[in-house]
Amino acid sequence: MKRGFYVGRFQPYHNGHQSVLEHIAHEVDEIVIGIGSAQLSHMVDNPFTAGERVLMITRGLAKLGCPFYVLPIEDIKRNALWVAHVQSMTPRFDLCYSSNPLVVQLFKEAGIEVLSPAMYEREILSGTEIRRRMLNGEIWENLVPSSVIDVLKEIDGVERLREISRKD
Ligand code: NAD
Repeated sequence: MKRGFYVGRFQPYHNGHQSVLEHIAHEVDEIVIGIGSAQLSHMVDNPFTAGERVLMITRGLAKLGCPFYVLPIEDIKRNALWVAHVQSMTPRFDLCYSSNPLVVQLFKEAGIEVLSPAMYEREILSGTEIRRRMLNGEIWENLVPSSVIDVLKEIDGVERLREISRKD
C-alpha cells in the first residue's frame, strides 16, 4: 500500500490541481489531499471555506479511479513543526507531492520523499489568476472542472468574492 500526500490551498480548486492528481493516481494506491489554510475564508485571497473546498475537490475527483481522502488542515505558527502537525491529522503516507518551495523544504527536512509534478499552464491555471478574472467579470469557467462551477454557483462564490473585495 503506497499512499501519497498532496497539499494546497485550492482557492479555488482548478484544472492544474486536477491534472496533477490524475497523474498522482497512476503512481500510488491512495491519495491523501490536505486542504491547507483550512481556517481561512471570506478573504480576497482565501474566499472559500474548507468545507466548500472539500466539495470542489471531492466532486472534481468523482471519476478519479483511485481512493482518496480530503482533509482540512489549519495552519500553525511554527513552520518547523508543520510536517508533524500534518502527520497528526492524516493517515500515514509514504511520499509528498508539491511544487511549493516551502512545503518541499519542510518535508525534505523531515526526511520524507518529495516529488514535484510538472506545472500545467501556470500563467492561467493559478488561483490568483482565476480570482482576478472572477473579480473583473472575465471568463474563468474554462479553468476549473465543471463540478467546481456547480459548487461555486451553489454557494454564490463569485458574488461573495466581489462583495468582500469592495471598499466601504
Ligand atoms: P496551491 O493551491 O497554490 O497549490 C497546491 C499545489 O498545486 C502546489 O504544489 C502548487 O505548486 C500546485 N499547482 C498550482 N498551480 C498548478 C498548475 N497550474 N499546475 C500544476 N500544479 C500546480 O497551494 P499551496 O500554497 O502550495 O498550499 C500550501 C499550503 O500549505 C498552504 O495552505 C500553506 O499555508 C500550508 N503551509 C502551512 C504551513 C504552516 O502552517 N506553518 C507551512 C507550510 C505550508
